[in-house]
Amino acid sequence: MVYCGFTNGDVCMRTDADGAIVCISCSLSKRIESVFGGKIRTTMRFDTYREALNHLKEHRMKGDVVPNYAFNNLKLRAKKEEENKANTKNRQLWA
Ligand SMILES: [Zn+2]
Repeated sequence: MVYCGFTNGDVCMRTDADGAIVCISCSLSKRIESVFGGKIRTTMRFDTYREALNHLKEHRMKGDVVPNYAFNNLKLRAKKEEENKANTKNRQLWA
């Protein structure tokens, strides 16, 4: 799943092969020394949609262009994620 890419803004966020949400070559990340020389940006990983959504907000606060559809998509997923967590909790209470 790709939430947004560099073609439509300053942020590239997608789901990686492990199912984690990643912000690729993130401008908010610490620059590290590349094995090829020079400094590069790293990829940030998020365990929840809520964390990823908050991260997009940070990008916007910094002045980065982030498309609205990325926000809307992650907002929906964060809401679902929290509903599922609440349902799981309820089920555990009644088990
Ligand atoms: Zn980022």
